[in-house]
Amino acid sequence: MKLTPQQSLLHWYKTHGRHDLPWRTTDNPYHIYISEIMLQQTQVKTVLERFYFPFLERFPTLSELAESHQDDVLKMWEGLGYYTRAKNLHHAARQCGGNLPNNAHELMKLSGIGRSTAHAIAAFAYRESLPILDANVKRILHRYFALLKRDEKKLWEYAYTLFDSKHPFEYNQAMMDLGATVCLARKPLCAVCPLEATCQGKSEPLTYPEAKIKLQKPVRNRSIIIHKRDNRYALTQRTERFLHGLWGFFEAVEVANATPLGHITQHYSHFTLEADLYLSEESFDNERYEWFTLEEIKDLSLSCADHKAVALIKQTV
Ligand code: SF4
Repeated sequence: MKLTPQQSLLHWYKTHGRHDLPWRTTDNPYHIYISEIMLQQTQVKTVLERFYFPFLERFPTLSELAESHQDDVLKMWEGLGYYTRAKNLHHAARQCGGNLPNNAHELMKLSGIGRSTAHAIAAFAYRESLPILDANVKRILHRYFALLKRDEKKLWEYAYTLFDSKHPFEYNQAMMDLGATVCLARKPLCAVCPLEATCQGKSEPLTYPEAKIKLQKPVRNRSIIIHKRDNRYALTQRTERFLHGLWGFFEAVEVANATPLGHITQHYSHFTLEADLYLSEESFDNERYEWFTLEEIKDLSLSCADHKAVALIKQTV
């Protein structure tokens, strides 16, 4: 008997799906929500090994997350990057008063929850019959329907075309797993793909979608002065949009009477930071800055670049 693409996918998922991931073996909407947000920009392995369980241990319920201080949330997010996700999580927890809505329509009204994330939470936690459209699914759809143009609206239409409305949980999980293990970005394994029989792009999968025009990332050159006084260092909590809420050292336009400490490079999604670091024990008065020992700095949430700066300080003491 010839299987439909949906049956074939379901069959494949039973045997090859990653059924033991902790967010798949729970019905707890809050746990599923946390996993969906963490997985938006981060690989499963990293989320699983370093962030998912400690975060849930620190904030066991959405109510506890809502009642917590944003600094604590950022601290638990430290190293995961894209900190707007953490701030949105915290804000969303407060928006809904610690009670996560039970449908995609309401979920989408919360900070940081777009259409695909809302569909994923609703499908996985409440079995709402909706398709998702994350990066993996987009790639599969582009290839499966041989779609060259990157058109989000069209992709949603195709997401519904292929969707298995009777098995929303399994279908969506299967698509995520297929994208992560078979329909790979650089080397799709068409020979073992359950959609191979009907895939329109299988002869030239790498053609779909058309390549993005790669723009060279700008480089920002900066000087960072680490002001020191009585074994304490001056840091400020950022108020600007970028890295908002994280603590950082003083960025200087001009450097005078300071000792070179070293150089750091940090790659961000939209630019590369090249920074020369200096240590200064000259008088420094700036009301935006507070003074911390190295031990106290451990409790602050810092960006990766500022962690590198701390590592350089440690080499000098
Ligand atoms: S047949 Fe190949 S290109 Fe098509 S969905 Fe499967 S892995 Fe991707």
